[in-house]
Amino acid sequence: MKLLEDRIRRDGVVAPGQVLKVDSFLNHQMDVELFWAMGQEFKRLFAGAPINKIVTIEASGIGIACIAAAVFHVPVVFAKKSQTKNIDGNPYQVTVESFTHGRQYQVMISRKYLTSADHVLLIDDFMANGKAMAGLIQLVQMAGATVEGAGVAIEKGFQPGGDAIRRMGIHVESLAIIESMNAETGEIIFKENR
Ligand code: 5GP
Repeated sequence: MKLLEDRIRRDGVVAPGQVLKVDSFLNHQMDVELFWAMGQEFKRLFAGAPINKIVTIEASGIGIACIAAAVFHVPVVFAKKSQTKNIDGNPYQVTVESFTHGRQYQVMISRKYLTSADHVLLIDDFMANGKAMAGLIQLVQMAGATVEGAGVAIEKGFQPGGDAIRRMGIHVESLAIIESMNAETGEIIFKENR
């Protein structure tokens, strides 16, 4: 998606450790009009899929998922990262390894908000090693719901997540796929012909 690639080129910062910082428009300050255009692109890419729910993961997927949900006219559920008093007794729960924080954490969704009747579009801001997405897929499968696809804002194509999730037979659409990036020069190369 050219609009997103241009924005990444303009405002993205390549940090050491193959981390792209997009805090100024995507996961700290948020450009909601850009999110709206991204939501419309997801709608086009997943046209025809009987999506009745969007599922994402706390925290940085939530903004993008909410705007996409408005475009799809469906509710959005986010997987919570810690047990709170607000989630009932026996939620669906899986362990996810964090790319950015290098540790493991539990994510959960209440049984009330994910059922076998659901046809889910998964949304996240980044795909790196695919652990967050794999955790969401597991949660959806635990509920007996159907994964209709996975929509990602930025896929780091040089990391294995995208291919791993595609190999599971999931329809993955990433709005920008980064082929390589260089923390010293700041250069970002996108996968072409998209
Ligand atoms: P994965 O589970 O695919 O390895 O990593 C996905 C999660 O890690 C995303 O939800 C995102 O929050 C975070 N993440 C992975 N790579 C990056 C990155 O380069 N920049 C930022 N800002 N977050 C990232």
